Amino acid sequence: MRIEIVNTGTELVLGDTINTNAAWLGQRLAALGLEVSRQTIVPDGAIIKVAIAEAAARSEVVLITGGLGPTNDDVTRECTAELLELPLEPSAEVMAHLEGYFTQRNKPVSEATKRQAMAPRGSQVLMNAFGTAPGLYLPAVLGAARGWNAHLFLLPGPPRELKPMMENQVEPILRSLLPDDADRAVLYQKITGMGESDIVEHIQADLEAMPGLELGYCIGKGDVDVRLAGAADVVAKAAALVRLKVGDFILSEDRRVIEEVVVDLLAERGEWVATAESCTGGTIASRITDVSGSSGVFGHGFVTYANEAKTKHLGVPADLIASHGAVSEEVARAMAEGCLATAGADHALAVTGIAGPSGGTPEKPVGTVFVALASRGQETVCRKLFFPGARDRFKLLTSQGALEMLRRRLRGINPTP
Ligand code: ATP
Ligand code: MG
Repeated sequence: MRIEIVNTGTELVLGDTINTNAAWLGQRLAALGLEVSRQTIVPDGAIIKVAIAEAAARSEVVLITGGLGPTNDDVTRECTAELLELPLEPSAEVMAHLEGYFTQRNKPVSEATKRQAMAPRGSQVLMNAFGTAPGLYLPAVLGAARGWNAHLFLLPGPPRELKPMMENQVEPILRSLLPDDADRAVLYQKITGMGESDIVEHIQADLEAMPGLELGYCIGKGDVDVRLAGAADVVAKAAALVRLKVGDFILSEDRRVIEEVVVDLLAERGEWVATAESCTGGTIASRITDVSGSSGVFGHGFVTYANEAKTKHLGVPADLIASHGAVSEEVARAMAEGCLATAGADHALAVTGIAGPSGGTPEKPVGTVFVALASRGQETVCRKLFFPGARDRFKLLTSQGALEMLRRRLRGINPTP
């Protein structure tokens, strides 16, 4: 099925807003096994008509985002109606939604807003639970007179409105349009703790030998998605092979990132983690608290940047720091154990390293970092990792390495492979 995306908005072509909708839609469609053949960005205005007409002439599905709001520059609905020569008619359902929306906020429905209740004849309204502008679905038959065979979806620009509409309303329609291919499956195996070239070396040759398997890699932030698509039995066989080869490194098969997996594992076990961070400045704590439900597994995060802070808050002996240096295995272990005791947690992660660009030595060059994990009733472990480069990347990869140690321990796998 040939699919195109048209993103509208002057702010997109100016670069003031990054076109995250296209990226997100591309991922959602890929998960359905659909690949976007072209993306187009156009500014607000009549050019939207040209872009939609071009896309509709060569595609079976066109997703159009933005320009459904109440302001003068929001003209996508009108442009589409004109293109298809369809009259705009008021939708009672949308009108009722708008009245409810504004009554709740103690405001009258403005004339500008009422424009949003207009729908091209024959279209299906996609209700917007998170805003006022509804989306619209125009089945392909509406464009048949123009010789087109494209289903058009008009979606709101704001991502928080677009995403639920796509997931709850557009995707079910798309699935119903797909040829009856119930047998097709797509699986993402998310891998961390292993570089892309290592992954390729371990699995590629065997997977390439499987007829009918589509294999892809998508590099994320500190992890790699192996994407397997094809007939369900082929995908199942391929997934089993990847598990056999690199199973310990697979952190999820449902696209959850490592902080989500760790929070879920801790919650299942009713356990708590605390953090003691130096060079990552709170990145690990920040990632854990990005996950909803983290308050049930995380209570203490120390940022002990100065040596005195490591001594004062974590009880790291000053002479240990003096004799081994703040960036050392000994100090990382002492930070983790001090953190565990102070926080009264079940697990404590500690990191100390040299983010750079200054401060490196021949023995401990910039990018050197020690990550330690202390757990109640288990041996404290420590890894020396090396991530030279920019500070933000250093922090991200160090936090990934730390969370990976904890994930492995929670899974009962050796935390320091
Ligand atoms: P509204 O009712 O808010 O006006 P709309 O459907 O008319 O919604 P736009 O006016 O095109 O949408 O965009 C509203 C806001 O949504 C933009 O200012 C921008 O912040 C965000 N937005 C729009 N398009 C995109 C996009 N492609 N990617 C990310 N954000 C976007
Ligand atoms: Mg708008």
